[in-house]
Amino acid sequence: MQIAPLPKNEAARLSALKGLEILDTPEEEMFDEITKLASMICDAPISLVSLIDETRQWFKSHHGLRARETPRSLAFCSHAILGDELFVVPNAKRDNRFKNNPLVNGDPHVIFYAGIPLALDDQIKLGTLCVIDNKPRELNEEQLQMLRLLGKQTVRLLQMRKDRDKLEIEKKSAERATAAKRDFIAAISHDIRNPLNSLLGMSEMIKDQPIPEIVHTYVEHIQNAGEVILNLVNDTIELSRLEESASVLNNEWFNLNQCLAVYNNFFVQETKRKKIEFQLKNEISETVFLLSDKRKLEKIIWNLTANAVKFTIQGSVICHVLLETKADEHAILNIQIKDTGPGISPEIKDRIFQKYNEFVPEGCEISGSGLGLSIVKLSLEEMGGDIQVNSVLGKGSSFQVKIPVVWKREELSSELAKTNSKKDTNLPIFLNRKTVLIADDNELNRKVLKNYLRPLPFDIVETNNGIEAERILQSENYDIAFLDIEMPGKHGTEIAKAISSKSDHPVLIACTGLCMPEEKQHILSSGFEYFMPKPYLKEELYSHLTEIAKKHP
Ligand code: ADP
Repeated sequence: MQIAPLPKNEAARLSALKGLEILDTPEEEMFDEITKLASMICDAPISLVSLIDETRQWFKSHHGLRARETPRSLAFCSHAILGDELFVVPNAKRDNRFKNNPLVNGDPHVIFYAGIPLALDDQIKLGTLCVIDNKPRELNEEQLQMLRLLGKQTVRLLQMRKDRDKLEIEKKSAERATAAKRDFIAAISHDIRNPLNSLLGMSEMIKDQPIPEIVHTYVEHIQNAGEVILNLVNDTIELSRLEESASVLNNEWFNLNQCLAVYNNFFVQETKRKKIEFQLKNEISETVFLLSDKRKLEKIIWNLTANAVKFTIQGSVICHVLLETKADEHAILNIQIKDTGPGISPEIKDRIFQKYNEFVPEGCEISGSGLGLSIVKLSLEEMGGDIQVNSVLGKGSSFQVKIPVVWKREELSSELAKTNSKKDTNLPIFLNRKTVLIADDNELNRKVLKNYLRPLPFDIVETNNGIEAERILQSENYDIAFLDIEMPGKHGTEIAKAISSKSDHPVLIACTGLCMPEEKQHILSSGFEYFMPKPYLKEELYSHLTEIAKKHP
């Protein structure tokens, strides 16, 4: 018996083999299919994908053989990898190199052997694809040809496997980075919302006091700054969801005219203060309903208009809306927002849709976050729409948006018309006194909420911890309970789970700084009926309470 010498490039060969990270991995179907095929084509009972490391030949696939490795010194494959072509031993018992080999005389009785080297770049022979028989024999030309082809295929699989693993690792690390970013944004959002709630709420309370006009103005500045921070937090969350494609389209039927009425009211007021003209040219009939993501659509129109108003110092902002209908129910919603602002220079025109790219035009003091247009662009991509910008420096800009929608015509029910025509900022009307629990460990948050509830016929009880809140709600009947989520003693969701199963339980309202979409979903699924993100918005609170008052006057 002869032991095969080491190949000349042994060090490089071993390092390439290790680099594949395949040794001692479990069997894989794609390699097993190759050996099965080789065995069938060559009509041989055994076929192996054999890889040679320092001391052994290890089988990635071992059709017809139980063993997964044998010593390298005995391996036929150690000889096969020394050449470039198929290595064939017709009868090992008559071959001096093998006749005393224990693998020939004992199990698995390798009498016939044919192995094609598995070569990377024609140089590095990692091992072989081989077939083995227990009797002397030959392969015909066709079988030899097939074995060569299967060998090539095996090499491709080895490389693909490595690329696949690399991709898998990269994907996992990208997912980890995305998750870390998401957690970071969630934590920042939560930590900012609580103090912001106190800041905005307390400012509101100061404004209710008899204070000099100048102090009133200062407080309004504080409130504006607070709102800018809140928008920044909301935009950062929105953008990160869009970037990781975690935001999903939420298509619903809605009446665009009603959305535009709220929009029009707001911007008429805004532009009046700035002494510029605002016009909404709406060519859509009020009986038209659209199927689209209402929230995203509103965000797009509001963002573009807010920019136009922000940057325009004199002249006008005109919003033109029309629907290009097609033969069927499909249509293109066409929105154009045109201003007589400073215009956008050609150098920055291509960059305004990138995040954090904000360019304060000459003569404008106000700056933003540089997130608005990136949110518009990504939302439009998701909705299958697009945006075009035309701008002449010194003359103005025009943003043209096209969004594919589905439409129908329907009479507006008077009820819907009433509820949607304006946001319900009026005080809710309760005919009977209500017992109300406010549970929050933050005293300022409780004060802010109590202040908003002051005009209502509520008998309010407060607590600053979860255990006490649950005890009160279990032992007494309350009409409404505002529960903070992260309270000492007991989590708000645990309390909601326990209380919502009680018959005659109070209306549960979650008050929280945990505002990521999955956090909101988790909170609502624990039994809360309403979700109030911090900082509290008076209109949102009153709108929830109006709904509650209708059900429980
Ligand atoms: P932000 O307005 O917060 O800076 P945006 O992403 O909304 O961020 O806008 C990016 C930039 O695009 C702005 O900083 C501004 O330079 C430019 N821009 C957007 N809209 C207008 C407009 N109507 N007129 C002039 N410049 C605009």
